[in-house]
Amino acid sequence: RGDSRDFDAEIASVCPFCGVGCQVSLKVKDGAVKKVEGINGPANEGRLCVKGRFGYDYIHHPHRLTTPLIRRADAPKGLNVDPSDPSTHFREATWEEALDAAAQGLARLRDAHGGQSVAGFGSAKCSNEEAYLFQKLIRQGFGHNNVDHCTRLCHASSVAALMENVGSGAVTATFNEIENADVAIVIGANPVENHPVAATFFKQFTRRGGKLIVMDPRGVGLRRYASHMLQFRPGADVPLLNSIMSVIVEEGLYDQAYIDRFTENWEHEKQHLAGFAPEAVADLTGIDAATVREVARVFAGAQAGMIFWGMGISQHIHGTDNSRCLISLALMTGNVGKPGAGLHPLRGQNNVQGASDAGLIPMFLPDYQSVTDDGVRSAFAGIWGDDAVSPEKGLTVTEILDAVHAGAIRGMYILGENPAMSDPDVEHARAALAGLDHLVVQDIFLTETANYADVILPAAAFYEKTGTVTNTNRQVQLGRRAVAPPGDAREDWAITVDLANRLGLGWHYAHPRDVFAEMKQGMKSLDNITWDRLEQEGAVTYPSLSPEDPGQPIVFAEGFPRAGGRARFTPASVIPPDEQPDAEYPFVLTTGRQLEHWHTGSMTRRSRVLDAVEPQANCSLHPATLRKLGVAPGGDVVLETRRGRITLMARSDRAVAPDMVFLPFAYVEAAANILTNPALDPYGKIPEFKFAAVRVSAA
Ligand code: SF4
Repeated sequence: RGDSRDFDAEIASVCPFCGVGCQVSLKVKDGAVKKVEGINGPANEGRLCVKGRFGYDYIHHPHRLTTPLIRRADAPKGLNVDPSDPSTHFREATWEEALDAAAQGLARLRDAHGGQSVAGFGSAKCSNEEAYLFQKLIRQGFGHNNVDHCTRLCHASSVAALMENVGSGAVTATFNEIENADVAIVIGANPVENHPVAATFFKQFTRRGGKLIVMDPRGVGLRRYASHMLQFRPGADVPLLNSIMSVIVEEGLYDQAYIDRFTENWEHEKQHLAGFAPEAVADLTGIDAATVREVARVFAGAQAGMIFWGMGISQHIHGTDNSRCLISLALMTGNVGKPGAGLHPLRGQNNVQGASDAGLIPMFLPDYQSVTDDGVRSAFAGIWGDDAVSPEKGLTVTEILDAVHAGAIRGMYILGENPAMSDPDVEHARAALAGLDHLVVQDIFLTETANYADVILPAAAFYEKTGTVTNTNRQVQLGRRAVAPPGDAREDWAITVDLANRLGLGWHYAHPRDVFAEMKQGMKSLDNITWDRLEQEGAVTYPSLSPEDPGQPIVFAEGFPRAGGRARFTPASVIPPDEQPDAEYPFVLTTGRQLEHWHTGSMTRRSRVLDAVEPQANCSLHPATLRKLGVAPGGDVVLETRRGRITLMARSDRAVAPDMVFLPFAYVEAAANILTNPALDPYGKIPEFKFAAVRVSAA
């Protein structure tokens, strides 16, 4: 195992995987990270999960990109490049040559077809400074707002509902506040696998007698700790949540004083809920009325309650409505702005909160300031030294790929995202990438998306660079460089600066701290947070009220950042999933992550321990379903939807309902998104990854 004498250096940083934001100590020997241990960060208190503890060696994998690459003129585009030998399709280039080619290709399209012919996907795996520079490059360099990132695929609908009804897209309380709660709801989330260290705090809460209400169509790991487990029908979130709230109204369990002081539109919400008695919607939800009534009484009767949710809530065409219901439930019970209470969408990527805060969103400049607001644009014109920001909202991730198919977008700069794996109906996304006139990909591996690139820029991995990241708790933390990037790979911020200057932007940043200083000029959320403080303290939560304040774990005790200081009830009606099971496609497909693998697998499948634990594409079916199909556990099944077909190993899992299939999305050889439905939530523009009609058969 080794003790500190065995290492050349021990560097404090932050885990690069999930939004929990565990702080780590990186043990370095001979220029390589040899071991990772948890340290006492505010979110993890020394703990790590298996990904943080063992998932670091991908940074030393032989597939790392170490030199810039330019596509050979005759190389066909498609998923056809061996990542261990890209020379069949790409030739090595100098940085000068590759940056020139990257910038000239994008500039040519801008000059010939207008700036809106180029779009950018930034990354929630990069630092705040890198996200900020990326959105600035697209906005300033191309004069429009066609810049987005993977928040569109995870919590965009949650943010839409929070912005609309609370006035802020971030959590109202840290997850650690659960230690002051009496009751907590976890809905549409599987923290044991997706936010494992947060889950340890949830488990401890139940040991102290806290009541944990878990609601999910799949029997997720926390069910063993739950006082109530509601395994409701997929897609029935709105009727279930409305029925809980209808009981609270019917039995007068709401907090009238809080409602009067801090909210608006209550009477409308109350009337709307009258149609959702639990007896009336039990067939729709699959949950009996007595259980719903008991859950309503337990939640409304508590002194302090928290609500946590994940992508089971957000990834639906009614994802924004789902979040509206959760917000209403918290408001009517007065569960915002006090210890042990709050709304907490568990953020997925390590820096999806920070990347969103930094403006990597087509409708918002940094700090969620609308691009349509003249005052906001003029403030950024003052900071950036020009008035390049367009007043028109840009296109979102899936809309950008549709615009490529329509010929309106011809060039893209993609940094650290992998739409050739992560987008719904992924063959549509791959065809879009193949059809681009010019694609610049900046990444650490030759990802599936890089297969379609014209120029590939090799980037540093997270442990090879310095920058700030913001976790699900609003904690801004400092990631520190522990080792040098391999070969000629460079830090993302530096590559983006070089590209910007080749596009004529005249940027001058010598270090990420310069970028952070500029961000502070336009982002009030960073008030009182300085680079020096982060170096000394490691983490500061925003908002921080003074240079000494470590930050506020709970916000909105005195009202909301909306007109009149009031939060809003927005009633939600039942919208069925876009695609219903039928005789041809009788099962419900739902997708998600597994404990050991991260998103499109580019990192964790190149991590020795994690890949050894979960080496093979798999799906989960109920044992009775497998028996009916005549498939033994571990045998292969074929999954088919209206969009495609994959074959993979099936596991037996009683947690999955007999009419469902659970499908992890990390495996390129059986890519889940070949099957998923691209139908979008109209507000958050998030695809319905959590529901598609599927046929299952023995392979
Ligand atoms: Fe990393 Fe998340 Fe695991 Fe913490 S819980 S070690 S941040 S993956």
